[in-house]
Amino acid sequence: MKQLGFIGLGMMGFPMAGRLVAADISVLAYDVVPETRQRFGAEFTGARVADDLQAFSACDVVITMLPNSDIVDATVHRLLSALPSGALIIDMSSADPVRTRALAEAVGAAGKRLIDAPVSGGVSRACAGTLAIMTGGDPADIERARPILAHLGKAITTVGSIGAGHAMKALNNYVSAAGLIATAEALIAGQRFGIDPNVMVDVLNSSTGKNNTTENKAKQFMLSGAFNSGFSLALMAKDVGIAADLAEAVHASMQLGGHVSEMCSRASELLGKDADHTEMYRYVQPQ
Ligand code: NAD
Repeated sequence: MKQLGFIGLGMMGFPMAGRLVAADISVLAYDVVPETRQRFGAEFTGARVADDLQAFSACDVVITMLPNSDIVDATVHRLLSALPSGALIIDMSSADPVRTRALAEAVGAAGKRLIDAPVSGGVSRACAGTLAIMTGGDPADIERARPILAHLGKAITTVGSIGAGHAMKALNNYVSAAGLIATAEALIAGQRFGIDPNVMVDVLNSSTGKNNTTENKAKQFMLSGAFNSGFSLALMAKDVGIAADLAEAVHASMQLGGHVSEMCSRASELLGKDADHTEMYRYVQPQ
């Protein structure tokens, strides 16, 4: 690999790109927000920072870590004319798997390659390089990406053909969001009955109700009132919406998913675009 491009230096992309710089990989980084790319260049002096996508003409591999499929599609289409023939794009965003398949066809027609490799684990695991990475695409392309992905995650699982990683990620986040909402509702019901919510979390964690929220979010971000996990409610709403759409597209039943998706969307509208997903605990409080 000559040069690795990295696009999207947000809560996740910033530390992920930083890890690649720290691994002595030649990184060219870009974010649409000028202050963000300046901050990245100041913190990771070994990286080059681009002011536009035309600067990516020397990159044979590019990682995208962007908010959603609209932005991924627009960015990749703009990148195609700049990238050299045979370049590999690794989309690590959480995106819509049906759109990813269509995008891969356009990328292939332009003589380039695309795989999806979304992640789970949040900001702390992005910083530690211990993300769970789920890949979809041509096996040869995934093998080409693997040495780079190894700097970002420990569990790298090939899920299937193009889009399968994105499908898996959306379904994972549906399960995670359902656990988060169930935990928040149970904590509030228990408190109203007179049970200390911190005691409830301890009991859940030694009982069958244990889940990622009880272990890693309830005390840390919800009961503490910190609400700063680094994963926005808007992004969670997007992911659960993708899972619900996917179920509909393949004629699978997802009745609970419909409710979870609606709750996430309503909470996100009410609490605003900057709300953390752990603020679902505030949303389910009785008024
Ligand atoms: P974020 O909103 O913090 O970061 C997104 C970044 O993309 C921002 O810096 C933004 O300026 C930049 N951006 C937006 N449009 C752009 C464009 N056209 N060109 C270049 N840069 C652009 O989001 P995040 O939390 O870092 O999440 C990124 C992706 O990873 C999302 O798809 C999200 O669902 C997924 N994800 C997030 C987490 C988490 O815990 N935050 C965990 C797993 C997966």
